[in-house]
Amino acid sequence: MKREELYSGKAKTIYKTDDPAKLIAQFRDSLTAFDGKKKSEAAKKGYYNAQISRKIFEMLEEEGIKTHYIEMESDTDMLVDAVEIIAIEVIPRNIAAGSITRKYPIEEGTVFDKPVIVLDYKSDEYGDPMLNEDITVALGIATYEEIAQIREMALKINDILVKYLDEKGFLLPDFKLEFGRKGGEIVVADEISCDTCRLWDKSTGQSMDKDIFRFDKGDLSKAYEEVARRIVPEIFE
Ligand code: UDP
Repeated sequence: MKREELYSGKAKTIYKTDDPAKLIAQFRDSLTAFDGKKKSEAAKKGYYNAQISRKIFEMLEEEGIKTHYIEMESDTDMLVDAVEIIAIEVIPRNIAAGSITRKYPIEEGTVFDKPVIVLDYKSDEYGDPMLNEDITVALGIATYEEIAQIREMALKINDILVKYLDEKGFLLPDFKLEFGRKGGEIVVADEISCDTCRLWDKSTGQSMDKDIFRFDKGDLSKAYEEVARRIVPEIFE
């Protein structure tokens, strides 16, 4: 079914299919961080992320959240609805980590009383600056109604994911969501994986996500495999 390449991002390549309403997202082993300045590859990373993302999308759909996920075409290739991506990185934060601890006077590990939703403009050219509602509307990125709906969906997804991951032995300090428009609806797009979530092991506090690569904290493939073992144990049977 795979056809012409539409574009290749940092960790996924998107292909057209025979049906213009559907695309294939191929999860690759390549890794980048710090706006693409740091690059590498990790064995089976694409496979683990594709399977973790698949499982989380299926679980969200069961909870009534619409996503772009349709089905897996192979171990690493996900058939998805073609959506119009909204250029916002929506970041629910539960525990302070990463950029928020560099930009504001808050220490890593501080637990927020309630989830903090951060909206960043998805733009490599401008370095993903933080948005507020008025800027988002002024730039024509989304309407006030869409922003309200995105916030509501992000909070609901955060709630579901925190509980789901807690049962698997993880804390979820923060993660990144992308949304797209599909026939008048807003749906979750892109991926939800070890590349886009901060996952801390509940008992050791160890990072089990892309921070291993960002800060040279150890064997990334091994950590992603452990996450996959807890979230998609069926692929190891
Ligand atoms: N994130 C992402 N893609 C991006 C930027 C951030 O998936 O382009 C995720 C990141 O993995 C983390 C969360 O969003 O789980 C918050 O990232 P942060 O703003 O702290 O940036 P970082 O410090 O990771 O660069």
